Amino acid sequence: MILYAAEKGKFTEFADAVKRKSGEKCNIYVNITNKCNCSCVFCLRSLKKMQEEHSLWLKEEPTIEKIRQAFASINRADVNEVVFCGFGEPTMRMEILLDSLRCVRTMWPEKKIRLNTNGLSSLYYEKNTAPLFKNLLDVISISLNASNAQEYHSVTRTQLGTGAYEAMLNFAAECMRYIPEVVMTIVDSIGAEEIEACKKICRERGLKLRIRPYEAD
Ligand code: SF4
Repeated sequence: MILYAAEKGKFTEFADAVKRKSGEKCNIYVNITNKCNCSCVFCLRSLKKMQEEHSLWLKEEPTIEKIRQAFASINRADVNEVVFCGFGEPTMRMEILLDSLRCVRTMWPEKKIRLNTNGLSSLYYEKNTAPLFKNLLDVISISLNASNAQEYHSVTRTQLGTGAYEAMLNFAAECMRYIPEVVMTIVDSIGAEEIEACKKICRERGLKLRIRPYEAD
């Protein structure tokens, strides 16, 4: 599925979700890649049920034409927020991601656009990638995951080396110059002490923190 909706932790075709909600707008999620430079312990890709369903596993990564066609098949009146999220890390296909963002901005200028990311694109591409999102995103949601590099690495198991945690935080700070809303996220299952430490880090850096419920089945 390139475009999907999330209903109570389940992923469904956007059109089916809209039918069930009868008239209520839904967030539309955009899935452009299976690839990621992390291997998080909680990643949906490693959950048994998800592997069995393969519902978000892209047999072929979509071209920009396919993504454009998928959007063209959607009734914009049914759409609340557009969220680039997916099964993998969207910035792994940076050019396609940027083309898709431009496409949505042009097609649906009134819609809020959010990117959910691991925040490692600047480290991965060895350049400051935050300016690329100027005027293309309303919100960027970055996975903070932990309060220190050691814990971060044990959770994300990223291939990008020991500087990844600091690089992710620097990317977040850069994003504040180009994107109206920057939100760091953690899950509520990491423990009270760790949550407090994450709050402190965000406070010190002027970053907004969202603590979201951990969803696994
Ligand atoms: S960064 Fe996201 S897609 Fe990548 S392994 Fe972690 S949870 Fe999965």
